[in-house]
Amino acid sequence: MKKLILTFSGASIGLVILIFFVFSRFNDARLHIVICDVGQGDAIFIRTASQTDILIDGGPDKKVLDCLSRHMPFWDRTLDLVIMTHPDADHSTGLVDVVKRYKVNSFYTEEVPGRTQIFKLLETVLAEQKLSAKFLYTGDKFNDQNGFSMITLWPSTEAIESVDQNSTNLRLNELSVIVLVSYGDFRALLTGDAGSAVMDQIAGQAGSINILKVPHHGSKTGMSDEFLNLTDPEIAVISVGTKNRYGHPSPFSLGLLEKHRIKVLRTDLDGEIEIISDGLRYSVKAEK
Ligand SMILES: [Zn+2]
Repeated sequence: MKKLILTFSGASIGLVILIFFVFSRFNDARLHIVICDVGQGDAIFIRTASQTDILIDGGPDKKVLDCLSRHMPFWDRTLDLVIMTHPDADHSTGLVDVVKRYKVNSFYTEEVPGRTQIFKLLETVLAEQKLSAKFLYTGDKFNDQNGFSMITLWPSTEAIESVDQNSTNLRLNELSVIVLVSYGDFRALLTGDAGSAVMDQIAGQAGSINILKVPHHGSKTGMSDEFLNLTDPEIAVISVGTKNRYGHPSPFSLGLLEKHRIKVLRTDLDGEIEIISDGLRYSVKAEK
């Protein structure tokens, strides 16, 4: 009997240590930004120091679910905020499964007059969860109680109003939601698939940043010298699929980043990339 009690106490202590370990892993009072490795597309998970869970884009398929399950504790099935930067399939398809599997408190995207097929499907799935997509415009801001803020830099209401409602060739990329994430002294700029004309317009508002999520998977039309001079990032992260058919990232963009002496991390070469900050310093972990 004594031996049985001792064994039981040993198991209980082990369980308490395990729970403590799991709890502290997901509640370390730091900001985590994870560039999920979803192949050719974008999915970025943010867990703030006060455990606000945010997903920006869902990638081209269900791979985003693996990323979420690795970076959220198993007891947490709620995403406080989901942002779809724009409704192209490589950013939005995975969100269908996310909305089905997680409780989503708010869903935001760019305001576009037309609907892609995948956006129509998403709206149906959102409606089943009694949710509808709301729109973000320059200046919209999210804060949480621990000093985290995320400000929308794009699209402006003027850019939305100037869209030709009857155009069959809507430039969804150019209306991508762009957000600046701030925590203490740390800054990260998340850019969707916007092009360099847009990036030049928002560079002044963004100011100096630590991390740049390179626009449009490193396409040759995403960045300019002027943009990199104004934002001066230390690390550029490219979310891109191995041997993708678009030739992303372009030699032009890689050359520009090299010229500005910016360290480059790529999901096709480095796997999942996680940036962790306490508001003063930050560290970067790559899977491979
Ligand atoms: Zn894309």
